[in-house]
Amino acid sequence: MIYLDNNATTAVAPEVLDAMLPFLREEYFNPSSMYEAAKPAKHAIDNARKTVADMFGAAQASEVLFTSCATESVNTAIFGATRANPNRKHIITTAVEHPAVIESCRELERVGYEVTYLGVDRQGNLSLGEFVRSLRPDTLMVAIMHANNETGVVFPIERLARVVKETDPNIVFFCDATQTVTKLPIRMDGNFRNVDILACSGHKFHAPKGVGILYLRRGTRCRTFMIGGHQEFGRRGGTENVAFIVGIAKAMEIAAATHDADMKRIARLRDELEQEIVRRIPYVEINGAGTERMANTLNVAIHFIEGEGILYQLSEKNICASSGSACTSGSLEPSHVLSAMGVPFTAKHGSVRFSLSRYTTETEIDFVLQEFPTIVDHLRRLSPYWNYAEQKPRAATLITEGGQ
Ligand code: PLP
Repeated sequence: MIYLDNNATTAVAPEVLDAMLPFLREEYFNPSSMYEAAKPAKHAIDNARKTVADMFGAAQASEVLFTSCATESVNTAIFGATRANPNRKHIITTAVEHPAVIESCRELERVGYEVTYLGVDRQGNLSLGEFVRSLRPDTLMVAIMHANNETGVVFPIERLARVVKETDPNIVFFCDATQTVTKLPIRMDGNFRNVDILACSGHKFHAPKGVGILYLRRGTRCRTFMIGGHQEFGRRGGTENVAFIVGIAKAMEIAAATHDADMKRIARLRDELEQEIVRRIPYVEINGAGTERMANTLNVAIHFIEGEGILYQLSEKNICASSGSACTSGSLEPSHVLSAMGVPFTAKHGSVRFSLSRYTTETEIDFVLQEFPTIVDHLRRLSPYWNYAEQKPRAATLITEGGQ
C-alpha cells in the first residue's frame, strides 16, 4: 500500500508507540492521585509539557496545554477568547480555513458576532492591504491558519501577527498550525512572538489520533472551554490522556532530530512527482503553484475528469490520496478552498491531493508516476468534456474561472 494522504493523518512512529506503551500497561494510574505509584504518570506529563514548551520556545511550560485534538484546541481558542472579551464582536478569518475554524465562526455569527472571511487570489495568497483594512476598533480576534491542509499554501503569519499587534495589542491572534507543527519553524519567542494562541493535532506528525496541543501565551484573555477538574492548571478539565501526551511530545522530539534531512528528501520527492505529472499529463495545473507551499503537499488539478473517479482508480492500485472535494449530504460539493481560489469548474472537481511523509519512498513515487497517467488517460476516455481522439478538450468546453 502506498500512503500519500499524510495531511489527513499519519502512521504512528514506532518510537512513539514504544514511549507510550508503559503508560497503557503498568503505569496506568491517574496522574492526580496522591500515592507514590501515580508519580511516574505525573512526571511523564510534566516532562512532555517541558519538551513541547522547549520546542516552541515558550516562556513557560504552563503555556502548553494538552487537549484531545486540534478541533478542541480551535474551539477553545475561539469560544474561550470570545467569552473572555465580551465587549468586542468582530472576528477576522479566511475563506480557506479548516471547518474547525469556519464552523466555529459561523456559530458565533448566529449569536450576533460579525465575521470577515478574507478571500484569496488564484495562488491562494491573502492580500495584505485587504487584511489591514479589515482590522476594526471592535476586532476581537484574528484566526488564520499557518498552512492550508488542501494546497499546502503557507500564510505569512509573522507579518500578519506583527501588523495586528502594531495596530491594536488587545486583538487576540490565533493560528491554526495543525499542518505545520514539526514541518515549518514555529518559535513563540521568534517568528511567532506576536501569536497568542496556537492549535495543533498529534496525528498529523506521527503521534496517535486523540491528542492535541493548545499553546496559550501567558496573559492572553481566554476562558476555560472544557470545564471540570483542576487538570491543565484548571484550564482544561478531564483526566489527562497520559500515554498520548507522552506520544505527542516524543513525536515532536523525533521530528526535530531528523527535520532537516526529512524535509529535504520529502521536498525532492514531491517536486519529482509534481514535475513528472505536469510533463506527462496534458491539461493539468498545480493548485497553489508559484507561492510558498509546504514541501510535502501537492494539489494537482486534472481538467475534465472527476476527483472521485481518480481516487477510486488510485485506490484500486493500492494508492491512498485524497480529493479536493468533500461529499456532503449526497451531493458532490467542490472544495471551499479551491472555490475561494477561483479554480476553474473543470479542474476543481478533478483535483487530487498527494501528501507525503518521512516514510514516503522513491519507489512509491515511481509507482504513482507509472500508474497515474494511465488512470487519467482512462478516465478522460470516458469524459464528455474530452476529445480522446485528438487528446484535447472538446471544442465546446471552456475552462471557466470560478463559476459552476
Ligand atoms: N485544522 C487543520 C488545518 C487541519 O488540517 C485539521 C485536520 O485535518 C484540523 C484543524 C482538525 O484536526 P483534528 O481532526 O485532529 O481535530
